[in-house]
Amino acid sequence: MSQKVYVGGKLVPKDEATISVYDHGLLYGDGVFEGLRVYGGKVFLHEEHIARLFESALAIRLPIPMSTSEMIDAVNQTVAENGVVDGYVRLVVTRGAGYLGLDIRKTSNPQVIIIADTITLYPEEIYRNGMKLITASTIRNHPGALSARIKSLNYLNNILAKIEGTDAGSPEALMLNHKGEVAECSGDNIFIVKNGVVKTPGPDSGILEGITRNVVMRIARESGYEVRECVMLRHDIYTADECFLTGSAAEVVPVVSLDGRDIGEGTPGPTTLDLLEKFQKFTRE
Ligand code: PMP
Repeated sequence: MSQKVYVGGKLVPKDEATISVYDHGLLYGDGVFEGLRVYGGKVFLHEEHIARLFESALAIRLPIPMSTSEMIDAVNQTVAENGVVDGYVRLVVTRGAGYLGLDIRKTSNPQVIIIADTITLYPEEIYRNGMKLITASTIRNHPGALSARIKSLNYLNNILAKIEGTDAGSPEALMLNHKGEVAECSGDNIFIVKNGVVKTPGPDSGILEGITRNVVMRIARESGYEVRECVMLRHDIYTADECFLTGSAAEVVPVVSLDGRDIGEGTPGPTTLDLLEKFQKFTRE
């Protein structure tokens, strides 16, 4: 079956799925996006992702030319048409084509693009043995410049951090905020476990409020763990019992070291493995 992409209000063969080179999404990174998972043919936490997409769009004053229910239908249609059972959806809304120049009044026709495909973010080995993480020197965007809560097409900040990780042999990179506090990784949220308490930086630390993060917090609370959102320093990670990352593509990833320093025993911890298993069960319910 040939892959079809939703663009211009319809599904077209992948090779014919195009947008204008004058689209401000391309020229200026002016747009928003979401990454969603499909499990058992069903879009996981669909409404939460669509709500965040519309919130990101509102924050950048981008009117999405569809209602939330039309968007949900379009995503479901793209998933079904491509026969995706376990996969990944990339949903993009651009400002649309215009003239050169930043003025949004010179653009028209915001573009909705939906790609349903498969994804393997990290090798299987990392889920068993844990990830060795490094801290990037690139900090998260200052929230006064661009809120990390907007999932925008401007990912250069994160890409530069990710390059530092890749150069150091780490598939992710920890990013601090402008105050030197732990924020998140280039494409994943971060958690630690200390004395049985599950901790993660809160929205004030300059993070994207991950949908996987929110679900893992809920699962942890329902399982009887104490969960706290708090200001976190690297010190807290170095001295933690356990550490893990969360993200739609990544799911739950154990982290066993930071900057060459073992975290806890230097192996995936029991709480991490418990939450990983519970999360996977939840995705398949
Ligand atoms: N932080 C950043 C910067 C991200 O891009 C993402 C999504 N890849 C996440 C965190 C995780 O968010 P979610 O669980 O909603 O995928």
